[in-house]
Amino acid sequence: MTKRSSKSDDVSQIQAIDVHGHYGIYYQVRILPLKNTFMTGDAATVVDRARRSNTEWTIVSPLMALMPRFKADAVAGNEEAARVVPQTDGLLQWVVINPLQPKTYEQAEVMLRHPRCMGIKIHPEEHGYPVKEHGRAMFEFAQKHKAIVLTHSGEENSMPEDFIPFTNDFPGARLILAHLGCGWDGDPTHQVRAIQASKHGNVWVDTSSAQSILPKLIEWAVSEIGVERLLYGTDTPLYVAAMQRARIDHAEISAGEKRMILRENSLKLFGSLLPKK
Ligand SMILES: [Zn+2]
Repeated sequence: MTKRSSKSDDVSQIQAIDVHGHYGIYYQVRILPLKNTFMTGDAATVVDRARRSNTEWTIVSPLMALMPRFKADAVAGNEEAARVVPQTDGLLQWVVINPLQPKTYEQAEVMLRHPRCMGIKIHPEEHGYPVKEHGRAMFEFAQKHKAIVLTHSGEENSMPEDFIPFTNDFPGARLILAHLGCGWDGDPTHQVRAIQASKHGNVWVDTSSAQSILPKLIEWAVSEIGVERLLYGTDTPLYVAAMQRARIDHAEISAGEKRMILRENSLKLFGSLLPKK
């Protein structure tokens, strides 16, 4: 049985690394304009909320590169992020690759060398392609550049299991499946099952899903795949960063396990890519 943390462990003071954030204007055609404004937040808002949740670094992709659905200009979004992120203390960048905008590959070649860029973000749902079709080229590219990839996961074009043939074929590519528990079919186990099917220890999952409100989800994932596979993520500013933080701080796992999810697993994964403070 796992040791439960006591108040004296003071997990809430751990300076977290949030691997899954955004900044910018949220815009979906189908939702109420007011709700779009709720999920919008500029870079300053994102770092303010991160600081108030004891988060040292938030790795962001610009919403401009992802939205509106099927119409985003990822090239313009990447250019904006390369400008905004270095000016904003506390932010780090994912460069967005959209295989339907081949120029994003060229941008990634350059931006992966920027000191604030931690890897590649992909989003088959917002960009509108099945990962089954474009994954091979993307993971070949990631392996060539030894890049860490964060992907949206859990919907039809981005089912976690569909990534595993690629991470098995390209062991030098490292993949973070976003949104532990997210499954368009209502099944919260896809990310965990995919990691269990991966062969090279090169797949992780982040805790950024709204499904984190489910009791036992995080705890079950830790028991199934080991705490080493979980990374802290919030999906800020779409979701409340402090709420995602509280979910981990109060999880029914040991203080050491919380520390690994919030910070140490990311220190290990990103290593020398992370700026020294
Ligand atoms: Zn996101």
